[in-house]
Amino acid sequence: MRSVETDYLVVGAGAMGMAFTDALIDHADVHVTLVDRRHAAGGHWLDAYPFVRLHQASLFYGVASTVLGGGAVQAGGPEAGLQERASQPEILAYFDDILHRRFVGSGRVTFLGESEYQAEGSSHFVTSRVSGHTAQVHVRSRVVDATYLSPTIPATTPPPFNVADDVRVVAVNELARLTAEPGSYVIVGSGKTATDGIVWLLGNGVPPERIVWVRPRDPWMLNRAVVQPDPVVGLGLAADTMEAAASAESLDDLFLRLEAAGVMLRIDRDVMPAMAKTPTLAAWELDLLRTITNVVRLGHIRHVTRREIVLDEGAVPLAPGSLVVHCAAAGLQYPPLVPIWSPDKIRLQTIRVGFPCFCAALAGYVEATRDDDRERNRLCPPNILPDTPASWARMQVRGTIAARTYGAEPDIAAWANSCALNPARIEPAQRDHPAVLAAAARLAQHAARGLSRMAELAHEPGPSLDRL
Ligand SMILES: Cc1cc2nc3c(=O)[nH]c(=O)nc-3n(C[C@H](O)[C@H](O)[C@H](O)COP(=O)(O)OP(=O)(O)OC[C@H]3O[C@@H](n4cnc5c(N)ncnc54)[C@H](O)[C@@H]3O)c2cc1C
Repeated sequence: MRSVETDYLVVGAGAMGMAFTDALIDHADVHVTLVDRRHAAGGHWLDAYPFVRLHQASLFYGVASTVLGGGAVQAGGPEAGLQERASQPEILAYFDDILHRRFVGSGRVTFLGESEYQAEGSSHFVTSRVSGHTAQVHVRSRVVDATYLSPTIPATTPPPFNVADDVRVVAVNELARLTAEPGSYVIVGSGKTATDGIVWLLGNGVPPERIVWVRPRDPWMLNRAVVQPDPVVGLGLAADTMEAAASAESLDDLFLRLEAAGVMLRIDRDVMPAMAKTPTLAAWELDLLRTITNVVRLGHIRHVTRREIVLDEGAVPLAPGSLVVHCAAAGLQYPPLVPIWSPDKIRLQTIRVGFPCFCAALAGYVEATRDDDRERNRLCPPNILPDTPASWARMQVRGTIAARTYGAEPDIAAWANSCALNPARIEPAQRDHPAVLAAAARLAQHAARGLSRMAELAHEPGPSLDRL
């Protein structure tokens, strides 16, 4: 059996494994072996539907050393004035360039693609899915699990319901490969993939009345205009959030206040959303989504027959010639929170509120610049990803406290403030701008009461939170 020596074995060349490796090799003189069962870097984006784009600014995604895209504001179209958002081909080309030019080209990273990682006790093995050859990897420093938050997607996850043989069901990816138009489209799912699918169909001329939307939960979504790399916008978002929380009587009241402040969006104003994964959405997309009136809210689908869709709380007819479009993979994953640094491995998770790439890069920087795991875990406590209004509030509390903790370290604060992935970044030249100062003052005014009330609403320990 072949044997490989390395300092770090990073399992998973998705966005988080890439961002961690990039920051690590920038700040430590180490060799990394990066393994993925996919053939290239980019993780789930390699199997994403072809019309997907980042839901927020390209600047916030990718690795710390190299900006994704040009950092430009969109000059025309329905999102004029907002930052550009990379498409799937742009994301894949970017990760491919980082992997080959920056990582492998430096001689400090070895990439083992199409290769499966397995651990047996304290031994590590990588088996090529092409040749079948297995190598034992001797790891001098750490194993890094960059798969812990790997999302599930429709292309690689079967629909979570049964479908009769004579019903046509496809993953959302197939919408871009149809050879004949179906009578109607049944979009199944409540999240970003479903909204992307609907916006794409409408944009391609499908009339709204030919779309049925099975939406088990209504989603809260973030207004894209308030998630932009501009400190006035970023501080304004934080101030709005804390101000809303400070006076909120309940979680629903918090979200309604955020809606009134222009932060949160919902499709149907008559329905209180139960889902809060909070991808960003633009106003033009919201307008399009609201044209779909045939919405089925009877829980999750159990099975589909040629004549009807059977759900938890009832059944609806299925029109002849319908195409059932699977947008119902869970997407974000919610494994148990564990310390990022454990004796056996580093498990990459988010730390601040959202932004997995920044969090993975932060973990890479902290790994390179600190030598004690207790201290690393103190600086970078794991955070949850949101699913419901309660977990969204919990994420805000944990993430705000974490950002204060790592931000209190001068070198981390300086690094974070030089990193385009960081949505809280303020360039030195912007610090004294009157609008920035005003937004910062508004945040300072509401932060303490807002965070404390948010913690109550989320049943989460407040600012004195001890580590896990
Ligand atoms: C459609 C969609 C759009 C999104 N848009 C955004 C966005 O705009 N902004 C944002 O911040 N987030 C977005 N997210 C979420 C974000 O992309 C993810 O949180 C993040 O990119 C996931 O990266 P990852 O590296 O954790 O997982 P993945 O991309 O899934 O990468 C993990 C990799 O690990 C590999 N792997 C797993 N097990 C093994 C093993 N045993 N051996 C070898 N390899 C293994 C897998 O093949 C995979 O390539 C989006 C998610 C989806 C699904």
